[in-house]
Amino acid sequence: MIYLDNAATTKPCAEAVAAVTETMQSCYGNASSLHKLGINAANVINAARRTLQGKFGDGDVYFTSGATESNNTAIFGACETYRRNGNKIVTTAMEHPAAANPIDKLGENGYDIVRLAPKDHEDFEAALADAVDDKTVLVSCMAVNNETGFTVDVKRLYKLVKRKNAKTIVHIDAVQGFLKIPLDGDLISISGHKIHGPKGIGALFVKKGVRLSPLLLGGGQQKKLRSGTEPVELIAGLEAAVKTYRGNKERFAELKEHLVKGLSEIDGVTLNSTDKCVPNIVNFSIRGVRSEIMLHSLEEQEIYVSSGSACSKGKTSGVPAAFGISDKDADSAIRVSMSAETTEEELDTLLLHIKKGIERFRR
Ligand code: PLP
Repeated sequence: MIYLDNAATTKPCAEAVAAVTETMQSCYGNASSLHKLGINAANVINAARRTLQGKFGDGDVYFTSGATESNNTAIFGACETYRRNGNKIVTTAMEHPAAANPIDKLGENGYDIVRLAPKDHEDFEAALADAVDDKTVLVSCMAVNNETGFTVDVKRLYKLVKRKNAKTIVHIDAVQGFLKIPLDGDLISISGHKIHGPKGIGALFVKKGVRLSPLLLGGGQQKKLRSGTEPVELIAGLEAAVKTYRGNKERFAELKEHLVKGLSEIDGVTLNSTDKCVPNIVNFSIRGVRSEIMLHSLEEQEIYVSSGSACSKGKTSGVPAAFGISDKDADSAIRVSMSAETTEEELDTLLLHIKKGIERFRR
């Protein structure tokens, strides 16, 4: 089996699996209980929180059910808390539905939404900051696009936005960028299952001094921001995944170069991922073969890739247009997303079966 769909989800690493099972067996107390078993669970959570804080800097880390919840908490929570600061939201046309849909909802409720597409701006960070005015309550921008790998320099974006309006809250959906590129933001969303951790666990970093209204009301766990009994085993699994993450930019760049060279030798293949993209995601279009046909043809060989984004389940997401990818090219786009375990030999097998697929299916 050749797994090249790591932007959809990753194989849990052995350390995460061990941490989950060990914690389930030996540390199953409720972290809110006052006895020893509860305190042990709280200690596991606090240790994981410290590990994550070490990745983000000064602020708090809240555990959530995943990045969808982190994004919803960040977007709705910030707009509710800071609504006196204005009703304009600046965002991008390439967001994942987990950010785009909450923002759409705010649009329906009277917020003024400005969405910028990378294709329209040479300097995307500057364009986003330029769109900020004294009524802008929130900037929400992903760090790395899940479909093409397009990268935003979010450290620079953060500085530029604050220079324009110090009160504007900056939310970064860093699901695909965490552990891969430098990050900054008032609110940063991450997800466990994209970094070889368990599914159903994510986190939201909240910079020191930033306040948020809760999305969920209940027992008041996690400083009243995220009610609900903490899933201590998933939190331990997430921490193990963060501590042992093996992805490496230089290695990904070698793999990308190998793949891109192979693709350039195939007639009718165009690259949708540019130099502004992380090297672990390579998106390309194969003229005359629809994505789903190629995906299933590769699947017959136990090679797993994605057409566009797995989260949009085969539906055209509208995101390719934000990068200037035509509908025709979007219809035949394949996303290969690699992990630290990916090898050149696996990519060669992929290339071979792409060629065979083209011979069989090209119209
Ligand atoms: N944001 C981005 C950029 C993603 O790629 C994904 C998942 O594909 C999500 C958010 C949603 O994350 P989760 O599955 O943890 O809810």
